[in-house]
Amino acid sequence: MRLVLLGPPGAGKGTQAVVLSKNYKALHVSTGDMLRDALKKKTKSGILAKDYMERGELVPDEIVTKIVSERISKADAKQGFILDGFPRNKNQAVDLDRELKNLEISLDMVLYFKTSELTSVERLTGRRVCPKCGINYHVKNRPPKNNNLCDTCNVILVHRNDDKVETIKKRLEVYDRETKPLLDYYSESGLLREVSGNLDVDGLFRILQNLFKKENVA
Ligand code: AMP
Repeated sequence: MRLVLLGPPGAGKGTQAVVLSKNYKALHVSTGDMLRDALKKKTKSGILAKDYMERGELVPDEIVTKIVSERISKADAKQGFILDGFPRNKNQAVDLDRELKNLEISLDMVLYFKTSELTSVERLTGRRVCPKCGINYHVKNRPPKNNNLCDTCNVILVHRNDDKVETIKKRLEVYDRETKPLLDYYSESGLLREVSGNLDVDGLFRILQNLFKKENVA
């Protein structure tokens, strides 16, 4: 399968992408994770991205588009991929279309995780992340088994700097202004399908399984 996941920060795109990627053997491509990784490794793109990410703004298109193009051209993306957090504006969507054309492939579907602002904010403020494996937890909805430790890696979970209230507000504004217009873009190309981002992980997964079956996406 080749999917794009659209929706505001806190819509559950990353968590659902992990489940889909396991069940459908598609590569999970998260631009946020790749940028955070680049920052950790102090690569040129990571250093350039740092200030934008801390402010909750979009990292310049050329940096992000390059990272995604390189990733989806690799052999392990041939079996399929799930784009989580990309594209985030019209320019990136046009670049993605061009790259897909070069690779002679196309998207199966663009899933819009429609989510209330209340849910987004509640999820982001309670989100905790494993700095090693990147798995997301939530203090109330999905707590780790042992106090603030990753179930798999046993390392202390972190509260992302950009998941603090001031930055969340900025990220939601950026989403409304830059990313939301993509709903029209993908609706016009007939790829857009809307699902509820307010559901829990398993409930949404069941709905997606049915949708994929109905539309022959494998
Ligand atoms: P995320 O983990 O998807 O919430 O992304 C975290 C941050 O990374 C965003 O607030 C942006 O600063 C940056 N970022 C992630 N994806 C993109 C993208 N497609 N375009 C520009 N910036 C991005």
